[in-house]
This record gives sequence, structure tokens and C-alpha cells, in this order.
Amino acid sequence: MGRASDVQSHTSIQSGYPHQRFAGAIHARVAANLAVAMVVLCLGGIVAAQEATATAAGNDPGTSTAAPSASALATATALAGIEPQVLSRPIAVTAGQVHWADRTYPYGSTQWDTRPVHLGVEFVNPRYTPVLAAASGIVVFAGADVDTLVGPQLDYYGKVVVIEHDLRSLDDLPISTLYAHLHSITVEVGETVEVGDEIGDVGSTGIAIGAHLHFEVRAGDPLDAGKTRNPELWLENYVNHGMIAGFIHDDSGGPIYGKRVVARSDSSWREVYSYGGERVNRDPVWGENFVVSDLPAGEYEIVILKASGAIGYRRHVDVLPDKITFVDVHMSE
Ligand SMILES: [Zn+2]
Repeated sequence: MGRASDVQSHTSIQSGYPHQRFAGAIHARVAANLAVAMVVLCLGGIVAAQEATATAAGNDPGTSTAAPSASALATATALAGIEPQVLSRPIAVTAGQVHWADRTYPYGSTQWDTRPVHLGVEFVNPRYTPVLAAASGIVVFAGADVDTLVGPQLDYYGKVVVIEHDLRSLDDLPISTLYAHLHSITVEVGETVEVGDEIGDVGSTGIAIGAHLHFEVRAGDPLDAGKTRNPELWLENYVNHGMIAGFIHDDSGGPIYGKRVVARSDSSWREVYSYGGERVNRDPVWGENFVVSDLPAGEYEIVILKASGAIGYRRHVDVLPDKITFVDVHMSE
């Protein structure tokens, strides 16, 4: 669907940067079919906001946008209809429980340079709050991580559970979830759990500042802390909510670390930072380096600030229920 009229054009946006196969495929379709300043394409459960400045007649055959490769088209087809947000929240969605990821220390964040780069998200709840399996699966680790490495170092996550699910990432790796700093564990290795089953309760074991659940999503080896993905891309949306994800990159196409991103609407204001370093895995298909989730559907403005505080990028974004709107951001600084 074309939405050229309600999207602001901005000279700092560069078109067609093929930072990942998905955007490349989208852009190829856009360039081939449309001659508009900006479009939003819906592919099944996925919305990609991508600008197109080339017309079909004006394509430069020397660029990657001129002719989509077979693999790029295959990727776009494979993505159609996939809803990545399939994990249930690990804390019950009821009054009095915090079932959203802590906003101050999201995935990839260093909490304003005060903490190690975060490989999961926090659900800040009191001790003894029940922790629930985010999807059905098989428990592959349950216990204290004193002898087996499941985090960045031994004795880091305290009492921890890892569940391997019958789910695959978009790049076809097995998905697992990790629940750390538990007060107690009520499942055993080899046990099958169903989504929503209680697997333990919130505590502060291991290296934890106060009681909270540290939650990770991993793609590949479930015990390898180097395999994390952003859980916010995976968690189910609240009713009539969606999210914005994006990739902020420089002239050479490399990610820009720690950039302040504001998503604001008439009624809300959310702030995140782009991922804080190369240790943080971007999804190889999405290629994002920031995610703002749990946004009520509606019209937003994305504003990205330069180190000086000046606005480096500004753009209108529509958030749709159960969709990810993807923004490709080129900044030079
Ligand atoms: Zn954490």
C-alpha cells in the first residue's frame, strides 16, 4: 500500500541501502513498481517502511535495487505471513504485575553507560512473582549456573531455566528462552512444559540488582550467551499495539551505537538507544539496532538526536496492530 502523502521526506534518508536481504527485497519491489517519495509495504504480518526515490524507468542497472536477486525475492516470500511476535509474556498479564520489558535497560542498552551491554530484558517484579514459560517446549537447563556456563560467566544468572521451543527464527535456527535470577525453580531438565506453565518465581540469585526476571531469547545453541536476539521482537503484542524497529547506520552502512531515539505521538513518549556495541546481535533478517515495542497503534514521529542534541532525523511512522514498522535511518555525523 502506498502512503506517500503522510510520510515526511527528509534529505538525510538515503534510499536503497541494502543492509540486509529483507530491506533489499522490499526496495527492489518498490523501485520496480512505484515512483513515489516514500512507501510503506505490508507483507503479511510485517510492515516495512522504506523509501524509494527511483522510478522503474530511472533505475540505475548498476545498483542492487535495479533487479531483485532470486534470493532476495525468496526472502520476501518467506517472510510473508510470518508473525514473529509469538512468545507469550513470561509474567502473567494481570493487574499488579509488570509484564512489559523494563524501559530503562532494554536489550542492547548500557543504561546510559552505567552497566554492561544488556543481552536480555528485565521484568521488574517482587520476589515470589510466578514466572511462566513463554512457549511450549523442553527444559534444557534448570538449576544454578555454578558449573555450567549459560551466561557471560559462571555464577552470573543464579538459578536459571532454559527452554528450547519448537519454533524457528526467520533464519531457521531453533529458538530458546532463558529465565534468570529465579528465587526457586519448579521444573527439571528434560521436562516438557506448555505455554503459561509456571516454571519458578522471581528472585535475585546470581548477579542481580534487586528482584527481577532477566529474560532472553536465543537462536541456535540454547546455552550460548552469544546467541541472543532482541526479546521485544518476539513477545506477543497487547491488543491494538504494535512496534517500531529500525537500523541506524552511517555513510559506510555500519551501525551507529548508542543513538538516542524518541518515538512520540499525541499521547505518548518513548525513548530508547540504538544497540550499544558489536556484541549485541541484530536479527540477521530484520537487521535492526533499535526496537520500540508496546506502542498503542496510531501515528508517531520518530526523532533521532545527534550527540549535540540537535535533531538528526525525523520521520512520520504509522504503528499498526500486531505489526512491526521498520525504519531505515541513514545519519552522517
Ligand atoms: Zn537483565
